[in-house]
This record gives sequence, C-alpha cells and structure tokens, in this order.
Amino acid sequence: MKVIVNGKEAGTKETGCALCGGTWGDYYETVEGEKLFFCCNICAKAFINIINEAKKRFNLNKIDYIELRGNFYRGRNIEVKNGENSHKFYIKLSDDGDITEFKEID
Ligand SMILES: [Zn+2]
Repeated sequence: MKVIVNGKEAGTKETGCALCGGTWGDYYETVEGEKLFFCCNICAKAFINIINEAKKRFNLNKIDYIELRGNFYRGRNIEVKNGENSHKFYIKLSDDGDITEFKEID
C-alpha cells in the first residue's frame, strides 16, 4: 500500500508515521498484509479504523493507495484508491483514535 501524508510518502521509520508523518517513536502494525511504521499505537489504531471504515463505506475489498492531508485539529482529507477506483472523504478523530466524523467528498 502506498501511503502519502501531507504530500510525502510515509509508512517507514525513515519516511515517518503512516498517519501523522512523525519520525519519533517505534511502533509497527501490519495493515492489509504490509508492515507499516507508526509513531505510536494511537496513530496505528486510527489508521486501521480509517482503512476499515473506508472499505466498509465504499465496499472495497482492498486499498492499495491512501493519501492523507491535514492534522488532528483540522481533521483530515483522505483519498483511497483500489486500482483506478478513487474515493475521497473527510474525517476527524478522537484522542483515542476513533473516528468521530466522516463525510464523503465528491
Ligand atoms: Zn503518528
């Protein structure tokens, strides 16, 4: 899965946390069969929630591209792709990494 956070590739220790782009911390989680780097377990939990919610809402069996733009306070604009299929949405997260707001964007 290709992960872009605020315009830069992310998801490894070198490139940064797959949710926030932070390079501190040392937390790994396997998502969609791929080992991704996160700064902390909350970011990992939030990322997995986003993937699961997007798959459910858009009826996707797989996500191979995700682009996240924004931050905790502003919320995040997200684009996911499964092949040529693209879906855009906006989310806000709680302190615990739960999704508190989800809006589809066309
Ligand atoms: Zn993070």
